[in-house]
Amino acid sequence: MLQKLCSNCGSKKEDSAQEYCDECGKEYSNYNMVKEFIRNNPNTNAIEVANETGLDLSKIMKFLKGGLFS
Ligand SMILES: [Zn+2]
Repeated sequence: MLQKLCSNCGSKKEDSAQEYCDECGKEYSNYNMVKEFIRNNPNTNAIEVANETGLDLSKIMKFLKGGLFS
């Protein structure tokens, strides 16, 4: 049976082929962008990541604290 709930927030989603709802899907690609940037720039800091990715610093901090999509 296809999963009808978002794997991250548990809310109902339209497209059962996707793992996440629209909102979490967006967050997930942001998260991947941050992860990718840090992998390419291991000595970077959160402020630099925010500047480079264009995401809010608070969002970066949330990603770095982990838990989300880990
Ligand atoms: Zn979700």
